Amino acid sequence: MELLYEGKAKKVYRSEVPGQLIMEFKDDATAFNGQKRGQIADKGSVNAQMTARIFQWLMEKDIPTHLIRRLDDRHLLVRQLTMIGLEVVVRNGVAGSLSQRTGLPEGTAIDQPVLELYYKNDALGDPLINDDHVRLLHLASPQELAAIRRQAMQINEWLRPFFQERGILLVDFKLEFGWFEGQLMLGDEISPDTCRLWDSQTRERLDKDRFRRDLGGVEEAYQEILKRVMT
Ligand code: 5GP
Repeated sequence: MELLYEGKAKKVYRSEVPGQLIMEFKDDATAFNGQKRGQIADKGSVNAQMTARIFQWLMEKDIPTHLIRRLDDRHLLVRQLTMIGLEVVVRNGVAGSLSQRTGLPEGTAIDQPVLELYYKNDALGDPLINDDHVRLLHLASPQELAAIRRQAMQINEWLRPFFQERGILLVDFKLEFGWFEGQLMLGDEISPDTCRLWDSQTRERLDKDRFRRDLGGVEEAYQEILKRVMT
């Protein structure tokens, strides 16, 4: 298979069918814009399986995604999107950079979800940007950005109860979107790498923060999330 792209957590290969790609999920883990590096055993398998499960479930709710099907433990067959250079973060609670930016303690509840836009640019460290910057950088038109916002909020409305039923608080998560034949589609992944997932009862962190913050029990947390998500 021809390797098209290798990122920090995934490899992307061309498939035999034009317009279709194969995503391979790696065990490699990075944090703080690549400054911290390591491996999380079976992370690739957890993230591929979880992404397939959640994207399939979202598609049943009429949210278009790039997923065609899961090929095996680590590989997903997906549509080739024209990616939008944005990271869209939706937050239901205060954590991470929102806590640092606002001074609000982690764990503070939020009445209405907060949506943030980040410019996907490793050299700049993915800075927070606003709607005017999106227009300035030609990342999306105002109409397209409105559709992206609507779609991200709708995904949050579906995912919150999905996780709640499984004893998990969806604190925040990052989405990436792209275009396929004029249609906005959810791309990339939804996994413990891209979400903050806290146990509803104990508030234990069951996500990549265990790696970022050296909390231990990283592999166990990923397996616990997979177990709950696959039910
Ligand atoms: P924060 O801005 O607090 O660091 O992250 C907010 C949420 O978005 C977290 O769930 C985090 O996992 C996710 N997120 C933000 N940027 C990235 C990124 O570049 N890579 C990954 N994997 N997740 C991100």
